[in-house]
Amino acid sequence: MIIDFHTHLASPVVLPGVFFDGWADNIRRLLPPNVPPAHRSRIEESFRLSVLDPDGDKLVAEMDAAAIDVAVVLLIDYGLAFPGHVPPIEEAFAAHRALLARHPGRFVVFAGVDPRRGRSGVELFERSLVEWGFRGLKLYPPCGFSPSDPMLDPFYELCDAYRVPALVHIGPTSPVLGYSMTAPFLLDEAARRFPRVKFILAHGAVSFTEECAMLCNFRPNVFLDLSAFQGAICPGGGPAAVRTAVSRGINHKILFGTDWPVFRMQADQKTYVEAVTTEGGPLATVPERDRDLILCGNVERILKDHRIPEASITRSA
Ligand SMILES: [Zn+2]
Repeated sequence: MIIDFHTHLASPVVLPGVFFDGWADNIRRLLPPNVPPAHRSRIEESFRLSVLDPDGDKLVAEMDAAAIDVAVVLLIDYGLAFPGHVPPIEEAFAAHRALLARHPGRFVVFAGVDPRRGRSGVELFERSLVEWGFRGLKLYPPCGFSPSDPMLDPFYELCDAYRVPALVHIGPTSPVLGYSMTAPFLLDEAARRFPRVKFILAHGAVSFTEECAMLCNFRPNVFLDLSAFQGAICPGGGPAAVRTAVSRGINHKILFGTDWPVFRMQADQKTYVEAVTTEGGPLATVPERDRDLILCGNVERILKDHRIPEASITRSA
C-alpha cells in the first residue's frame, strides 16, 4: 500500500495564477538565453495546463497507474497573501468537499487557514473537522507568519482536542512570497508547547535537512515528508536527498509525498514512485519494514489517532 502524503488540488480556486507566475519565472530563468520567445511562451502555457485538474480526475488516474491508494490533499489559504487573486476561502473548502465526495476513499483533506483570519478562521477549521471530515491542518508560513505565533494557539488546541496533525511548509516556494518564515526551528516552540500534536515538516528531506532531521530525532512529535525530492538541489539530485533522509535513523518519522501538481510537467506519479522504490533506488536500500513505514505505515499511524466523528468522515466520502 502507498499513501502520498503531500498533494494539492490542481485548481485555480486553490492555486492562484500569481503563485504559478512566480514558478514560471523561475523556469524561464533556467532556460538558455537563445531560446526563441515562442518556445518560452509554449513552456509557460504547458506549465499552466499541467497544473489544471480541478476535479482530481487526472490525479486519481495517475494514482491508479502508480499504485498510490490514498493521497493527502493540502488546502492552502492564499487569501491574505494574494488579496484579490483567489476567491473567498469558503470556495476552496467547498472544492475539497466536492473532491472527497467525487472520489470516495481516495483522499484525505487537511484544512489550510491563515491564522490572521482570527476567530472566523478557527471556526472554519473546526467546522471542516466536525462537519466535513477533514483530518488535519496545513500551514503555509511563507504567506507571512511564524508557525509558533501565539495566534495559532487556538488552531493547535483544536488539533490537540481532535488528535489531528499539523503540516508546516519548510523552505523556498514561489519567488513571489518571502522565505524568512520557512526555517524549521521557527516551529520548535509550538512543537514543545503542544507535545500531543504531531507536526510534519513539509519538504524536510530537501530543505534545511540537518535541522529537520535533528528535530525529528529529538522532538517526539515532529515528522518530515519527502515531497519536492524531485527538485532537490543537492549533489545527486532527488534520489540522493531521499537516500540521505532514510539513512539517519528516523525512518519511523518519514512520510512519502510528491507535491502534485508542482512537478507534473517533468514526469508522472508512477515515475516518482518508481524513482524511490526502484531496484537500487533509495528505498531499496532500507529494510522492508522501514520501506512500508515510509510509504504508508507512518501516515496511517498519525491519521488513526483522530477523534473526528466517524459520521462526518463517512458522510464526506
Ligand atoms: Zn506542497
